[in-house]
Amino acid sequence: MNTRIYHIAYTPELKEICLFFWGCNIECRGCYCKRRIYSPMLPDFLGKHIEEPAGLAPAPEKFLTMDELVSILDKYDFTSVVLEGQEAGLDPEFANITRMLHERYHTRNLLLSNGLQLPDLTDVDRVEIGIKAVSDHLNIFYAGVSNKTVLENLEKLVAAGKDTFVESVFIPGLIDINEIERIARYIAGVKKDMLFVILPYFKSGDNPWRRPTVEEMERVGETAKKHLDKVFFFRGNEELKFKVFSAFPEGAGELENTGDMTSLSDLLGSPDADPVIA
Ligand code: SF4
Repeated sequence: MNTRIYHIAYTPELKEICLFFWGCNIECRGCYCKRRIYSPMLPDFLGKHIEEPAGLAPAPEKFLTMDELVSILDKYDFTSVVLEGQEAGLDPEFANITRMLHERYHTRNLLLSNGLQLPDLTDVDRVEIGIKAVSDHLNIFYAGVSNKTVLENLEKLVAAGKDTFVESVFIPGLIDINEIERIARYIAGVKKDMLFVILPYFKSGDNPWRRPTVEEMERVGETAKKHLDKVFFFRGNEELKFKVFSAFPEGAGELENTGDMTSLSDLLGSPDADPVIA
């Protein structure tokens, strides 16, 4: 049975596997996958996020079967899995994959989702919902669809007691400091102690926006903290603490230099620890 998994990244020090799925139900103007389909933590991309290349990354061609996935995973020692890439929950095998991860490897499973269509979350331990904007005209401009369902799904997850947090991308000139503050205010109204992660935009796709400066990221983070207790923001100049490599395809993203991004789960801390708060 084929999955939609086209890439596996592994961080030995964190005992973390990241599964990258292909296919999404929206088309964001600044989607990372327009620029690159492999993990941004791989050696060949480190430091490259400051560049502004044109053009689109080629789509993946090879997708793993369940048997191939298991035979790759069996080679690694890991305790947590991030299900990401594009929209992992759209894979018809999603529930089978997360159940297999729990039963065979006893992992803690984190799903990164745009929140538009939630899959069976029985074997998902934590969910990150990406909110593009709470101002619906901005969401429609950026993602092509209303945010109504996304916000409803976030509220349902919280009401159901699912361990959930929010991530947004700060895009100067589009998703600006005022919009990030509106998102923070909205989250506080849903759950005051929810974690809010803010990422700096970097050039992806054919659009006019620029990367934020470190100072802008600090200002945005401080603004969000006026409304929320748990805010983490990337400054865009972080050092990579742990080596990441591609378990599939083997050799993808092999190195040119070292750079300055760090892993999401590293920044979020271990599953039972408090998240890192900026
Ligand atoms: S939701 Fe994520 S994967 Fe889908 S288009 Fe937007 S940025 Fe890309």
